[in-house]
Amino acid sequence: MTETATIVQDAPADFIQVNTESDARHHLCAVYRLLAHFGMDDLIYTHASARVPGEEAFLINPFGLLFEEITPASLVKVDFEGRVLDNNRHAANAAGFVIHNGILRDRPDLQCVIHTHTRAGVALSCLEAGLLPINQFAIEFHGRLGLHDYEGIAFNLDEGPRLNRDLGENFGLILRNHGLLTVGATIPAAFYFMYYLEQSARVQMDVLATGAPYTVVPPEVLSLTDTQFTSHRRAGSAGHRMWPSLLRLLDRKYPNWDEN
Ligand SMILES: [Zn+2]
Repeated sequence: MTETATIVQDAPADFIQVNTESDARHHLCAVYRLLAHFGMDDLIYTHASARVPGEEAFLINPFGLLFEEITPASLVKVDFEGRVLDNNRHAANAAGFVIHNGILRDRPDLQCVIHTHTRAGVALSCLEAGLLPINQFAIEFHGRLGLHDYEGIAFNLDEGPRLNRDLGENFGLILRNHGLLTVGATIPAAFYFMYYLEQSARVQMDVLATGAPYTVVPPEVLSLTDTQFTSHRRAGSAGHRMWPSLLRLLDRKYPNWDEN
């Protein structure tokens, strides 16, 4: 009989609290800075959003700023009709509004949406086979990613329902011929999924680039591993354990990153 190791490390993580607009601005700003830090930005393009607690509105990046320039106060607050609510001198990106509004408006269970155009993520999105469960990073996403066909730059509001249809209950989407998208019931969860989806894409593209045969994980091991990953059972808490350390990383590397 196989014994399971005692999970001594599985003490409860400290949950971040996002109870106010100020909290949402702080933690979403951290998402942008971390995307830049880990090489997941695309100049001023792509976007991440966070719901404003208690309001029919969300925060998104000011169009025209690099992610490393974004501050809590510069994030643009928009409602689901596309109205800017905070007298922001910056505009929001139209395609960003379509994508994030389309998902957040109809999914009150989600607090955060992150979209990227990384080299590995775009490359993965061009593959007919999608993400292959050939390494531990990717196995966490096995059966938990949707696929969304490319419809051109997302300027049409009617793409929102189709994004939601394709997202379903998954952790995220491969946006075919375009990039990656993850969602979270919390801001750390959405970032956790994006960080590891990106790692999955990087590894897969590196493996395929060798042209060498790769080993396939047997179905029974995929099933076992699915029971070991707990992120799908507690999607809201994914990423919470690492989030305080990531905020400390920002404090060390980018002093005053959260000052307006
Ligand atoms: Zn995009």
